[in-house]
Amino acid sequence: MVTRFAPSPTGLLHLGHAYSAAIAAASGRFLLRIEDLDRGRSRAEFVAAIPDDLAWLGLTPAEPPLVQSRRGAHYGAALERLRGQGLAYPCFCTRADITAALTAPHGAIPHYPGTCRSLPDDPARRAEIAHSWRLDIAAALARTGLPSWREGDRLYHAARADLDDIILARKDAPAAYHLACVVDDAASGVTLVTRGVDLRPSTPVQRLLQNLLDLPEPGYFHHRLVTHAEGRRLAKRDRAPTLAAMRADGIDGRTLATNLLAGQLPLGFGWADA
Ligand code: GLU
Repeated sequence: MVTRFAPSPTGLLHLGHAYSAAIAAASGRFLLRIEDLDRGRSRAEFVAAIPDDLAWLGLTPAEPPLVQSRRGAHYGAALERLRGQGLAYPCFCTRADITAALTAPHGAIPHYPGTCRSLPDDPARRAEIAHSWRLDIAAALARTGLPSWREGDRLYHAARADLDDIILARKDAPAAYHLACVVDDAASGVTLVTRGVDLRPSTPVQRLLQNLLDLPEPGYFHHRLVTHAEGRRLAKRDRAPTLAAMRADGIDGRTLATNLLAGQLPLGFGWADA
């Protein structure tokens, strides 16, 4: 198996990331990917802290990290291919909507009302106005049908309601999360995608993109999440669960990683299945 840990450097890594990285490292040849396409929220200091945090946990990536901000040409080629098949259209909807697509959606995907789906393509307007590229999901489904994916020996079938005209890229960013994710998982030869269960809603559209782009199908494992003991989600603004703070407090990272894999959490934390 080839696995990856793919943090977004928009904050320091926390206990939930440690669990995610430990699972990936225990499941196969372990790769690191820096998902820094959201240039507004990514910070060099957070990128720099990731290898230190992993080393403290005793988790060593097998290769230097793949850095998404350097891979624009690969995403551009994938977008061109979808456009060439008539599966992508320009969308002029709001900037907030477009920015949200750059980072992984941890939770339900909001549905796009279809405002720009049937506009005639106008390259002159595109040259002037900020826009994004959306996947024409109806056209895509007509080509490949509803996708399925495997988790262990279970086969899951996506429903039409799980899929939407997601943003693929925007005028000034070569890819949004889903497109970059499938292009990079394939480029790295990832055979098992391990990530939190909050990202399971991303799997149907990512499987569909793999089918459209003739990319190999990885297996999936969506793991449970670490929360505060009372069930509140870990947030990047809390100091308590950051790995840097735990390291500064003298906690042994290797023991922490081993304990997490055994299902043992430090005091004050709990598990959530969704
Ligand atoms: N970058 C995403 C995150 O920070 C992970 C995306 C993935 O594993 O597919 O949660």
